[in-house]
Amino acid sequence: MDLRYSEADEAFRREVRGWLDEAVPAYGPPPPPGDWDVRRAYDTGWQRRLHDAGLAGLQWPAEFGGRGLPASQQLVYLEEYAASGAPYVGINFVGNAHAGPTLIAEGTDEQRRFHLPRILRGESVWCQGFSEPGAGSDLAALRTRAVREGDEYVVTGQKIWSTRAHVADWCELLVRTDPDAPKHKGITWLILDMHQPGVEVRPMKTIDGESHFCEVFLDGARVPVTNRVGEENDGWRVTNVTLRFERGTAFAGHIITLRSQLRRIVALAGEAVDRPDLCRRVGRLDARVEALWRMTQRCVTEAEATGLPSPLGSALKLGYSELGQEIARLGMELLGRRAIGTDGNDTEDARLVHDYLWSFQYTIAAGTSQIQRNLIGERILGLPKGR
Ligand SMILES: Cc1cc2nc3c(=O)[nH]c(=O)nc-3n(C[C@H](O)[C@H](O)[C@H](O)COP(=O)(O)OP(=O)(O)OC[C@H]3O[C@@H](n4cnc5c(N)ncnc54)[C@H](O)[C@@H]3O)c2cc1C
Repeated sequence: MDLRYSEADEAFRREVRGWLDEAVPAYGPPPPPGDWDVRRAYDTGWQRRLHDAGLAGLQWPAEFGGRGLPASQQLVYLEEYAASGAPYVGINFVGNAHAGPTLIAEGTDEQRRFHLPRILRGESVWCQGFSEPGAGSDLAALRTRAVREGDEYVVTGQKIWSTRAHVADWCELLVRTDPDAPKHKGITWLILDMHQPGVEVRPMKTIDGESHFCEVFLDGARVPVTNRVGEENDGWRVTNVTLRFERGTAFAGHIITLRSQLRRIVALAGEAVDRPDLCRRVGRLDARVEALWRMTQRCVTEAEATGLPSPLGSALKLGYSELGQEIARLGMELLGRRAIGTDGNDTEDARLVHDYLWSFQYTIAAGTSQIQRNLIGERILGLPKGR
């Protein structure tokens, strides 16, 4: 592993920075929250621009519309992307960060040929249908049932917390295909078309007044067998591939944005720099962001060498979640009484309040901190399994 950037990486950095310097101001800020159709158009429109500029799917194989670049250039890209203030990938997150990579690793050629270019061009939006009311941390307890009828599976059950399912075209869906097998052995990973009878999506309102998540009710929804990823009842293995992308490489982009969030907070603290306690706190947070970024570099380069994200992704996810909450809390403390009465997303104060409210989910989404600790204990440190 060599974490120094080469001359080719630095040349790529200039290319990315040059493009972002012009494209970000020209594209303009995201629309105000609330209207998800407008948001979808904004996010997918930006994805299309990235694609047309050759900046989508940097590490995906060229035959599927990617650029096949080395991991170091993906990292350079993320650094420049965060520094430029470019829009968050948002609605394209699942497709880009883990559905697409799962298809690259586990899908059939037909699935790859159909879905991957559409994801990269911003023509299709994906969501994740893993969690259920009785299956979150214990995901393998899922009960959504799929019964094979000829060349199709007929799916009935309920999913919950599916992020942005109300604007999604496709869903990475986990179903139970063998109810008599031990729970990890009767699961299958399917690609569900969200636009069909038998799929009902109900958005849920969260503390920030937004509807990021949805319940998804499935009542006789149909999935062609050709939309199965991996073998029938081998879905738990495929799920772990998806989760490793979700907890590992997908978080790289999030981690680098902590750097810019901390910079914004330092700017806010401008007049308070004579407070040594505050300087020490900011210094420590900054050092932890940098350490986490180095660990990210290690994970991403390991993923390149092995073709799969490293199990260290759990440690990354845990570190990012807890650090993100501490940074957001510092922002709130500095705002003090000014935090009361901010609304929307259009002022710096409102953004910091929003960051704080949003930060509560860090330690839950993509597996809670307790679950990451279990995984670190068992899979990285080799400790005995907890009861
Ligand atoms: C922002 C956000 C986005 C999400 N997006 C999606 C999505 O798009 N698709 C999707 O399918 N899901 C999504 N989820 C759901 C997420 O994966 C689950 O919320 C998460 O896995 C936890 O499950 P749960 O909410 O059922 O909590 P539970 O599993 O009920 O856990 C409750 C508490 O018990 C603890 N606990 C449970 N089991 C153990 C154990 N074995 N050891 C120690 N402690 C334990 C947990 O850590 C937690 O503190 C999202 C969640 C959030 C917050």
